[in-house]
Amino acid sequence: MSIRAQYISLLKQLVALPSVSAKEAYLPETAQLIADAFRTLGAKVTYDDSYFAPIVLAQFTTNNPHASTIVIYNHYDVQPAEPLNLWQSDPWTLTSRDGKLYGRGVDDDKGNLTARLAAVAEYLSENNNELPINITFIVEGSEETASRHLQDYLAKYHDILKADLIIWESGGKNDQDVIEIFGGNKGIVTFDFSVTTANNDLHSSLAATANSAALRLSQAIASLFDHDGNIVVPHFYDDVLSPNEREKQLVQSLPLTRESFITQHGLTTPLHSDLHDADLKATLYFQPTLNIEGITSGYTGPGVKTIMPATATAKLESRLVPNMLPDTTLQHIKKHLQAQGFSDIIVTKTLGQPGYRSDMSDPEITRVIAVAAKYYNVLPVVIPTSPGTGPMAIMHDALQAPIASLGIGYAHTRDHAPNENVRLVDYNQHIDVIKSLIASYRV
Ligand SMILES: [Zn+2]
Repeated sequence: MSIRAQYISLLKQLVALPSVSAKEAYLPETAQLIADAFRTLGAKVTYDDSYFAPIVLAQFTTNNPHASTIVIYNHYDVQPAEPLNLWQSDPWTLTSRDGKLYGRGVDDDKGNLTARLAAVAEYLSENNNELPINITFIVEGSEETASRHLQDYLAKYHDILKADLIIWESGGKNDQDVIEIFGGNKGIVTFDFSVTTANNDLHSSLAATANSAALRLSQAIASLFDHDGNIVVPHFYDDVLSPNEREKQLVQSLPLTRESFITQHGLTTPLHSDLHDADLKATLYFQPTLNIEGITSGYTGPGVKTIMPATATAKLESRLVPNMLPDTTLQHIKKHLQAQGFSDIIVTKTLGQPGYRSDMSDPEITRVIAVAAKYYNVLPVVIPTSPGTGPMAIMHDALQAPIASLGIGYAHTRDHAPNENVRLVDYNQHIDVIKSLIASYRV
């Protein structure tokens, strides 16, 4: 069996383990399988199972004391596969059709991991078992649940971890089939609002005398915005890090138009950028958000039920740009509610993670861009910050190295959704690119 085929078969085994971190399922089993694969390849493996999702550290070292170190970050946990009826093949069975591999985690993130393992394995076998750099894999199992232990973990292993460059878990090609390289991502703070306005749901005739919890909650949420959707929470934007000239330029050159954006998402409400005469790309990449994920209150079944709901809850989130801190942002929101007379709204933080942007002119980042440009024979689309979220800030703060994100995905990879898939051609290209990146350190 070829090396690449061996790692596809590892991918098959990994996909067969439903390692959903939200359900805390199959995490040690999956981590063990990965640790064994690293050991087989000759890495020094440190397996830490003091967390609910064990973290696998695998170090490939050279004899050269001056060699650089690349840290490769991946995760083995996945999102739930539901709704199952929308999958064309079993999510937990790696299935190959039409040049694509299907299965939960095939892109996010098990396939990226096995592609990178295959790259190191092939490089070693083609180069007398020697690497020109040290390569450290950090593979965690709680990425889909906010990397709950990563910060603690990185502090614990601080003395044995160093990095000149961090390769992020995933990435891929855009809808024009050009490879993208990300250097950052937004942070996030998620929180619940809840309010109780009576002992129990009341007869709705009493609406003549008091407000329901549903109205109270709606008013509190509405107070966060003005009529155009501007966030009016005082100090919300205070810490926003403005992009530098290169970052602005990079985002301006992204192939995104207002019209294609509206069509792609079937948007029927005006864009914020149109309401405020702002630039869509700059808003998308460099501005924080405040969003309602869902609202629950009262009776929503068939027919009529004439009640005043006594309780109402909402789930909200704010995507943060670099420099904004989750707890500080939430404090601003709490203070605003108090000032607006909504001290009865209980605010509970659920998750938080700061955002991060790399300096895209760092020589290690330009190395990655140059290697990808040469291999794909096209200039990659370089994006300073992804609008999505991940623990980049945690990793950067611990290792003080720039981060580049590229991977095996494409525009229809469907991460987190039914029929998650990757194209074999992209998968194999990523193996080649990682090998070229390793080779670029040869002196
Ligand atoms: Zn991921």
